[in-house]
Amino acid sequence: MDVGGAPQERLQPVAAAARRGCAALTPVGWRKSKADVVRALVDAHDDLLPPRRRRDISQIAGSGVGVRPDVYCWEPDGWAPFFEQYAIVRGGEETSLKGIADNARNRIDLDPGVCAALRFYLRRMRPTSLSFENFEMAEALMVVTHQAEHLKAPTASEAEVECDAVQQVRPLVRAAGWDAEYATEMASQAWELSYQRLPQAFRSSACRDGGPLDRNPRSSAWP
Ligand SMILES: [Zn+2]
Repeated sequence: MDVGGAPQERLQPVAAAARRGCAALTPVGWRKSKADVVRALVDAHDDLLPPRRRRDISQIAGSGVGVRPDVYCWEPDGWAPFFEQYAIVRGGEETSLKGIADNARNRIDLDPGVCAALRFYLRRMRPTSLSFENFEMAEALMVVTHQAEHLKAPTASEAEVECDAVQQVRPLVRAAGWDAEYATEMASQAWELSYQRLPQAFRSSACRDGGPLDRNPRSSAWP
């Protein structure tokens, strides 16, 4: 029985996209090629354990950011081998973020942990105050809105995108019908436990109350 060829065949388009990337001499060309490599990687992996399309999570991106992407949740056993190769392509930059945006396909692919954490939000079940589930839910809302912001503003920097994302937690919690106090708690968890611990490239001194990236400069609620 010969099963050895299959994975290599699947990865051929990835290699081809990577070669095109190496031939591209401009930074724009390289960025585009990198997107091609990631797309080829997704395609190479998603036939083994097909990710599930999630309209309910697409709605979160819609209500927060105003885009309607196709959102896919991966199975843990499919995500792990895919992500290992994805991390090689993207290096340390985006890989801490647990999600991938593909502008050309208007698509977001999500780490299974993010999808699991969103179940509280989607079922309107409020986790216990200051619990790990609360933090996970806040972080998952940031992951979805971060990737949605990439689709909405393809030229925005990581720091701009992430600053928008951390400010979406409060309105999203309110949109779920929860009270202002809880929205504040979730927003501060997102700020303290997630945003503040990100690599430098994702943060900006302009991301502060009243700063250039404050979406509601007249409000003193932050983020
Ligand atoms: Zn990003």
